[in-house]
This record gives sequence, structure tokens and C-alpha cells, in this order.
Amino acid sequence: MHESCGVFGIYSPSEDVARLTFFALYALQHRGQESAGIATADGKIIRNYTGMGRVSNVFTEESLRSLPGRMAIGHNRYSTSGSSRACNAQPILVSNETSSIAVAHNGNLVNGEHLYQELVSLGYKFNGTTDSEVIANLILASPGNSWEEKIRHTMRRIKGAYSLVMLTPQAIYTARDNFGVRPLCLGKVDHGWAVASETCALDHIGAEFIREIEPDEIVKIDQNGVQSFKGDASHKAMCIFEYIYFARPDSVINGKLLYNTRLAMGAGLAKEHPIDGDIVMGVPDSATAAGTGYARESGIPVVEGLIKNRYVGRTFIMPDQRMRDLGVKMKFNPLPQVLDGERVVVVDDSIVRGTTTPKVVKMLRKAGAKEVHMRICAPPIKYPCFFGVDMATRRELIAANKTVPEICEYIDADSLGYLSVEGLVKAVGLPRENFCLACFTGDYPIPVQLEMDKLGIENLANIQQNACEAIEDA
Ligand code: SF4
Repeated sequence: MHESCGVFGIYSPSEDVARLTFFALYALQHRGQESAGIATADGKIIRNYTGMGRVSNVFTEESLRSLPGRMAIGHNRYSTSGSSRACNAQPILVSNETSSIAVAHNGNLVNGEHLYQELVSLGYKFNGTTDSEVIANLILASPGNSWEEKIRHTMRRIKGAYSLVMLTPQAIYTARDNFGVRPLCLGKVDHGWAVASETCALDHIGAEFIREIEPDEIVKIDQNGVQSFKGDASHKAMCIFEYIYFARPDSVINGKLLYNTRLAMGAGLAKEHPIDGDIVMGVPDSATAAGTGYARESGIPVVEGLIKNRYVGRTFIMPDQRMRDLGVKMKFNPLPQVLDGERVVVVDDSIVRGTTTPKVVKMLRKAGAKEVHMRICAPPIKYPCFFGVDMATRRELIAANKTVPEICEYIDADSLGYLSVEGLVKAVGLPRENFCLACFTGDYPIPVQLEMDKLGIENLANIQQNACEAIEDA
């Protein structure tokens, strides 16, 4: 399972926008670590700089100085579509004889392949294999007398999840899909405006949070300020994994501080799955708050039983199984002095394929834990996601193929308890209709996803992989 990307944009003529974007991308690094990029514009041209790796690996003083301008957009990538290669790093910059636009995208299109084939048949040339390049070319090709008309036209054609930031030589545009699957918010800086995937990026650059970008809304930012072009925001389906895992605990989404919702998830788990234990610990960092919530509700003391090496990427967002296996071993160091002889209640955010959890349980037992009781903030994940979170196929999802007692046996825990869908929604504290819960329930907000399931997402991944290799060979 992998997550989505981080996007950021800023309009501020009096500031070093490339540097501010660099720091905002730093704050959003948890959303993607494969590649990063910044595009700037000065009213006449767009400059773009992208590279593989984390923000700090990609940018130097020199590269930041090569990006002057009064506005900028930036992107941290995890490969939600297309492979992990330099040709797919974003922002994607496309041009024709009269105009150019840079696009950074968080999400995944369900009809991206179809639109790609259509554009290729019309003679469009692609450098990579991402949905983002499809979106950028579609905008360029769309009818309309203004960028907002072209973007709206494109939004009527693309289906799926997208939080977009776009840069033309004269303005920044931002847009969100009509379900609002991925977060996107607007902030104010001293002499301008900023947009970001999460409020934590606004905090880090000293911007004030103003509001969320609404589903189906386009926002234009230039020297005239902020202009909004609203659409139909009546069908919300935000990915609930933003609350469980993806977003940082210091971010606020829909008025909810994620730290508090994770505390409530842990408390909910303690109510739904109580157990006699000596100590409680959350798997760091994503389940730390939930561990505290479980401890508060149950009265069992909370400890740190695993220390995380923060400089190794999250296994969740590493792109293949070999790297994921390596990552688990490099990521945690157990504390035998804390764990020895104890009945340990371990709170974690989710179990997807079931590759990480048995290793954590084994690690804790080896460190002396007498009993290991797993408690999981997400309900069993039984269905794949087509909104940009790589749950892979149903075949790989452990809860699609095993019962809870079977999973408990497989991970070698003494007991296992998942938070219910109702308990999860209650912990978030917003109406159930606001969320996508499809990976738990199979109830997809976009019916076409089921068609993709029938076609087989592996098939689609192979097509994209082959296309990327063909481009690189050429
Ligand atoms: S299917 Fe699951 S992971 Fe995908 S958008 Fe919906 S809630 Fe998020």
C-alpha cells in the first residue's frame, strides 16, 4: 500500500518563493519520497526543476537560486500512476506554440489510461507515464478562452481523485476533484497566498490557514488576489486514511486536528477490544497518538517499546516488496528493558498485506514480550483502492483472504482487534457520508472502479511500465 503525493503552491512577489516551497515540501515529505520538484514563474516564463529522491537530495542552494519568480508550485511524489523514474517526477511542464502550464497532482485517475491513448492518437507526445502528464496535456488541448475554462473542461473529462496545483506564467491555479478525496487547503502569507495538501505545510512557512478548497472548486491566485470558481460540492468522499495514517498529526482537516482523531481511534479500540495488558504502545509514529488514546481509556500505562529510526522512509511508501522488507528491519529498534516479561498491547494504524505486522510481533517477542495483543485503527482492508492508494490487488490484501482469527494466527499475535467502521467514523467525528470507506466496505464512490477491478489493475500497471520503458529506450 502506498500513499499519495504532497502538493504546494505560493504566490508572493516579495519573497523567495522557491525557498518557501522547498520548506513546505519538507513539511510534506511524509506524503512521498521518490521524487520532488519546484516550478516557478515570473509573469513571462516557467522554470522547472525536478529530481529523484527526497527534497533535501534534490535541491541545492544553486538549484534554488536558479528558480526566481513571484509564484511557485512544488510536488513530492509517490508513484500513484506510472513508475518511479525521473521522467515521471513533477511538476510536469507542457507547452504548445502559444502557452505553457506546469502541473503537480496528488491522486489517481480511473480513466487516465483511456485519456492517454486518446491524446496519443491525436499526436500528443509524452515524456513519462503519469496521470499528471495526461491532465497537463488535456488542459492544454481543452477549449476555452481562459485557463479556468480549460481546467473546468478537463475536470469534466477526468475521473478519479485529484488535488491539483498548476502554474502558468501569470497565475497559480488549484483544483480539487468533485469528491474531495485528497485534502487541499488555502492559506495567507504576508503579501500573498499559499495552497497546500496539509495545514502543517502552511504552519511551517508561517502562513495562516484560511479554508479548505471545496470539492469541484477551482481557485485562481494572481496579483488580483484569490478568485474562486465553485462547482458541485454535494458528493463528498474524502479518503478516511488521511485521518488514520497519511496526514501528519499536527494537520487539521475539516476542522479536526488529526492528533485528536487518532487519540479517539485508540480510545475506541480500547472500548471495542479490551484486554488485560501490562503496557500499551503505539507503533511509531503513525499510531503513537492512538496508543496514547488506548492507554487513557483502558488505564494501562503507555510506553515506548519500539524506537523508530526516523531517517529511514516509511515502509508504506517504499515502492517494491524487496525495499519494504529491508525497510521494516531498518526502521525499528525494540527496547528489551521496557518489554521484557510484559503483556504488551500494540496499537497500529492498519494491516494491508500482512508483511510488516508479523515482523513487529516477532521483534517484540524476541525483546522479551510475554504476550503481544495487536489493536488496529483501520477496519480490515478487503478491497483495493483506485483513488491513488496502492493496496495492490485483492489477492494481496490479507483481510480479503483470511478471517480475523486466521490473521491473528498468521501474524503470531496473542489476540487481534480491529476498530469497526462505525467506531472509526465516530472517532473522526464527522458524518459517514463525507468519507470514502471503499477499501473496508467495497462501496466505491465511482462505479467505474469496479470495472477496473474486473479488468485487473495489474494489467494496467504493466501497460504503464512498458510504456515508460519504451520511452526510456527511445
Ligand atoms: S478506497 Fe480506502 S484508501 Fe482508497 S480512497 Fe477510499 S478510503 Fe482511501
